[in-house]
Order: sequence, then C-alpha cells, then structure tokens
Amino acid sequence: QQSTAIVTGASSGVGLYAAKALADRGWHVVMACRNLPKTEKVAKEVGMAAGNYSIMKLDLASLGSVHNFVNEFRASGKTLDSLVCNAAVYLPLLKEPKRSEDGYELSMATNHLGHFLLCNLMLQDLKKSSHPRLVILGTVTANPKELGGKIPFPAPPDLGNLEGFEQGFKAPVTMANGKKFKPGKAYKDSKLCNVLTMRELHRRYGDSTNIVFSSLYPGCVAETELFRNHYSAFRTIFPWFQKNITKGYVTETVAGDRVAAVAADRGYEQSGYYWSWGNRQQEGRKSFVQEMSNEALDDVKARRLWELSEKLVGLA
Ligand code: NDP
Repeated sequence: QQSTAIVTGASSGVGLYAAKALADRGWHVVMACRNLPKTEKVAKEVGMAAGNYSIMKLDLASLGSVHNFVNEFRASGKTLDSLVCNAAVYLPLLKEPKRSEDGYELSMATNHLGHFLLCNLMLQDLKKSSHPRLVILGTVTANPKELGGKIPFPAPPDLGNLEGFEQGFKAPVTMANGKKFKPGKAYKDSKLCNVLTMRELHRRYGDSTNIVFSSLYPGCVAETELFRNHYSAFRTIFPWFQKNITKGYVTETVAGDRVAAVAADRGYEQSGYYWSWGNRQQEGRKSFVQEMSNEALDDVKARRLWELSEKLVGLA
C-alpha cells in the first residue's frame, strides 16, 4: 500500500521539493497549502506525477482552517504515515506586528501555534500507521550552539519565561518574552518553539506510541521565497555570501531531499533527534545528530510552552 505524507507549505521552496522527493519515492503527498491554484501550478512545474499528490487547503494562521484541514484529510480515508511541518513566514522588515485570524502575532501563529494544533490533532491519525513519523523544520539561526545561531541582530532567540504566552499573546503582546516587537527575532523564537514542541512530543509520546518525532536543519536554502519580505539587496547578496563565503548554500532540490529522507528513509527511525548536514556544504555530506541549544533542551520550558500553547489553540 502506498504511504501517505502531509507536507505543509508545499507550494514553495523546501516544502515543494520535499513533496517532490517524497512523490519520487513512491509516496502519496498531501500538499497542505493556503493557495490552491499556486500549488497546482508549481506541482506541475516540478513534474510531480498526477496520482502521487493531492492538494488540500490549510491556512496555518487560522485555527479554524487547521480544524477544517484535519476533517478534509480524514474524509479522504487515507492513513497518515508522515506529517511534515514545514510552512513558515519570515517578516523581518515589519514595523508593526501583523496578526493571525485569531489575534496572535503572525510569525508565532503560523510557524508555531498552527503547527502545534495540527500536530496535536493528527497524533490519533499517525497512531494508525505502521511506520509513523512527525517532522518539524528547525533552523540554524534559532540555535546559538551553531555559528549561524550566534548572529546578534536583531537579537538571538530567547523565549524568556514565556511571559507573552502567559499573557495570552493577543494585542498588545507581540513577543514570547512579552518584550518589544522585533520581527526577525519573532521568526527565530517561533523556530525555537518548533524544536521545543518536537522534544515535548517525544517526551510525551515517544514511548507510548511508535511515532518517530524529528527536527532538522536542511541547510541554507538562500534563494527560497522565505526571504521575499527582505530588502532586495539582501536577496541578492545573501545567496552569494552563502555560496562563496560561508559555503552554507544548498539548492531547494537538496534541501527537499533531506526533508524527505528524515520523513521517510531508513536511518532516521530514532525519535527525539535534530538532524543536520552541517553549515559548510560538501558533496555527499552525511547527516548527523546536531546538538540543540540550551534553551531548546530546557525540559521545564518545553512543558510550560506546551501547556500555554494548548490554551492558546483551544485544546485546554
Ligand atoms: P518559502 O517561503 O519558500 O516557503 C514557505 C511555505 O510556507 C510556502 O509554501 C508558503 O505558502 C507557506 N506558508 C506561509 N504562510 C502560511 C500559512 N499561513 N498557511 C499555510 N502555509 C503557509 O520558505 P522555505 O521553503 O525557505 O522555508 C520552509 C521551511 O524551511 C521553513 O520552516 C523554514 O523555517 C525552514 N528553513 C529554511 C531555510 C532557508 O534557508 N530557506 C533554512 C532553514 C530552515 P505560499 O506559497 O502561499 O506563500
């Protein structure tokens, strides 16, 4: 029987190429996206075989949309084998915070809260699979134990004591630590929440289910649309810098294949790991288990983040 994966944000960049790589492995991929015509167009452009994918509406910035998506997936009658939480927004130039449909700051709402609800709802679907996996994309800039995570501007990731979550995260609250709005940091904070969520999923369900929970950093895919909201000069210089100076640059094809590997291949069955291929890319480079940041390894924070996120998405 054909295995099924859900990939969020499969209409662009890493998610699109992860969907393609999974389809090329013979999987059926549910491309969970907010823009259906765009997704249909790009799926064709990259040459995904018609029977190997379907497209379903998911807007992660709307908790109602997450519920609707889960219902639509269940109505399809498919068994879920791999859930890939990939979608994200990065809005570094915002002067004022944008808000999700539910009133939460948009980066945290999309990247963390929408996925948090999705993961929680879909655990029961994953439990029906014989080889279930749940993968959440992390990033290097949210991990101060790596060079790319030491960049001090606009600020390193730091959730504080989750004051913003404690206060309900709606206006005027904009940041996890309850402090002043810094849009670039909001992205890093949300990606840190992604890794904390993966670890807490593993702690809660790693033993009692056969689900493999993983995160990964796929490399610096400096030309995806993730940087669409950055200065145009940045969009020119950043890929050049990553190709020639840091040597961290990877293509969307390589990054997508890495995500597909963690979601589907042998060798990634150990739950609770954060995979990386390093920061300096070399031909044929093998993956390894990357050490997470001290904050990402903070069990007390992971638990508290879970409890507060449950309240914000209406699960508690
Ligand atoms: P892209 O901007 O190319 O893709 C982001 C995807 O997320 C798009 O499909 C986008 O949809 C979707 N998306 C955004 N908002 C929503 C929403 N509200 N609901 C549903 N889908 C949404 O970025 P990348 O491919 O670069 O990023 C993918 C992942 O990889 C992210 O998790 C990112 O943090 C991670 N990553 C990226 C790195 C890089 O160098 N690019 C490095 C490390 C990690 P739409 O097409 O409609 O805009």
